[in-house]
Amino acid sequence: MFIVLEGIDGAGKSTQAKMLAKWFENKGYEVVLTKEPTDTAFGKLIRRLVLTGGKEGIIDGARISKEAEALLFAADRAEHVKKLIEPSLKAGKVVISDRYFYSSLAYQWARGLDLEWLINLNAFAPRADLVILLDLPVKESIKRINGRSIRSEFDKIVELQKKVRENYLKLAEKFEEIRIINALAPVEDIHNDIVALVEHELLE
Ligand code: C5P
Repeated sequence: MFIVLEGIDGAGKSTQAKMLAKWFENKGYEVVLTKEPTDTAFGKLIRRLVLTGGKEGIIDGARISKEAEALLFAADRAEHVKKLIEPSLKAGKVVISDRYFYSSLAYQWARGLDLEWLINLNAFAPRADLVILLDLPVKESIKRINGRSIRSEFDKIVELQKKVRENYLKLAEKFEEIRIINALAPVEDIHNDIVALVEHELLE
């Protein structure tokens, strides 16, 4: 069983992924809790080149191209799929990932790449059985991530988050495995909504 948590920054993905993993474990399932970008060399490269607010993304005087960025995310994902996700699913484990290729579609599309190009690039990656989209208004997201964001990039971040949220909602119409959950509710309520969804969609 392959479950993915998606949503804009600050939506509560990692908190809910941990709670869901514990819920499955209490039911006696073997669970693999994972995330993208990963902690492998590829994931570290992404964090160094792409996610540092631009400073370290500079190669020969220019920020790395959007295409190279998408390829780095895809390379990280290929390792993730081949080395961890597929073997774990084959072994009958429940795999819960905090972000997956749906993030690349939402974010790299928001940064100006073509959606179909991104879908083709990620065609090697198996679709999840269930994608829980934690949907949050951007105002709330900015409040939550304020401590984490770079002030001079504030407006850019608001604009990007708005686009990413819209993209996720559009993707929910295209990929039937995506289910939308209101991420404004208290943490426990969201967890209960997710459990209800999992029971209804995957366990009944
Ligand atoms: O989920 P996490 O906070 O680890 O994600 C790190 C950052 O990577 C996020 O702030 C998100 O903006 C960015 N990201 C991205 N493209 C992706 C996945 C994540 O720009 N495909």
